[in-house]
Amino acid sequence: MRRITIAIDGYSSTGKSTIAKQIAKELGYVYVDSGAMYRAVTLYALRSNYIKDKQLDVDDLISDLNKINLKFIFNKNLGYAEIYLNGVNVERDIRTMEVSENVSRVSETPEIRRQLVHEQQKMNKQGGIVMDGRDIGTVVFPQAELKLFMTASSEIRARRRFQELIEQDQNVTYDDVLNNVLERDYIDSNRNDSPLIQAKDAVIFDNSTLTLEQQYKKIMDLVKAKLGSQNAGDKID
Ligand code: C5P
Repeated sequence: MRRITIAIDGYSSTGKSTIAKQIAKELGYVYVDSGAMYRAVTLYALRSNYIKDKQLDVDDLISDLNKINLKFIFNKNLGYAEIYLNGVNVERDIRTMEVSENVSRVSETPEIRRQLVHEQQKMNKQGGIVMDGRDIGTVVFPQAELKLFMTASSEIRARRRFQELIEQDQNVTYDDVLNNVLERDYIDSNRNDSPLIQAKDAVIFDNSTLTLEQQYKKIMDLVKAKLGSQNAGDKID
């Protein structure tokens, strides 16, 4: 059976990665969390003192780009790949509020985007991949057979994210999380280089009121429709 490329874009904390992992597992596809790559570069910038009071020293970070090695390594116990920054697993370190508060500034830098987009494109070996992010259906894989655009109300997204952070024992308030979600949405949607926009051929998915199971079922139906039409040689637009 032909293997397709699935691009999942959308606003912060819409649960893209949870559903993307589940779909990839079911199909036996590779799952790539492109946001983890921008977060790992941000972690590198923070640890190098290139970010102070939310001000990024862009030139220093760009001149270090060849020193930043990112790799995804599959963790059999978890069932998905974790990100390594220069050989060290940083999956947990990249999810802090400090990284969330600075990542959108880092990711608006064109030189950084160019490098990460190139690495993301190299991960796609003729389909069989689910990647989530902000520009996957528009820039990274504009040819993707299935594109989804996820959204939900900002309050619901902040509530879900807050719950996750509390479960990881992070010291945050709901208001901090809500403000961060709104700020990232704003910067991500208004930057010059590959802003977060819905691809023309993406299916919109508002999951404010959908359970994970309902989302999974709807998306799998879309996948099956695509695979069916691919096999029959049709084209669904
Ligand atoms: O997906 P996640 O919320 O972890 O992404 C963190 C940040 O990385 C986003 O807020 C955005 O600034 C950036 N990002 C991006 N392009 C992507 C994925 C993430 O600019 N494809």
